[in-house]
Amino acid sequence: MGRRVSNLILRNKKMVKCNNCGWKGIEQNLEIFFEDGEYGDGYGGKGCPKCKTDEYLMDFYPKPCDTMYHVFTDNKDEYIVDKKEAIKLAKEWGKDYGCSRIYEQKEWNEDEGVFEDGDCVFSIGNFPM
Ligand SMILES: [Zn+2]
Repeated sequence: MGRRVSNLILRNKKMVKCNNCGWKGIEQNLEIFFEDGEYGDGYGGKGCPKCKTDEYLMDFYPKPCDTMYHVFTDNKDEYIVDKKEAIKLAKEWGKDYGCSRIYEQKEWNEDEGVFEDGDCVFSIGNFPM
């Protein structure tokens, strides 16, 4: 489980966010700043364009889409963005294997770059193995 999501995440570049002001962007958009030596290490660096510091910067993975549908049956699963396609596949698998489920995934974990499991929105037969 999760292979297709990780493929999707790999295509999705890691980005940087500032936990102080909420700024988000790619590393290239960080601003070079200088420190006076009173605070920080005195060498400056690349930081948030608004806060002029790297103190609050964190890596994160941007959400690739609003909602993802996790379709699965016995020993098989797919992650699909389009709900109609997800239902079509779940119905096919329901016929072929006697069971299928769709879980709607909306909650995105920025730190891990993965969708959290959501509600079951479609089901045929027993719970897949
Ligand atoms: Zn900031």
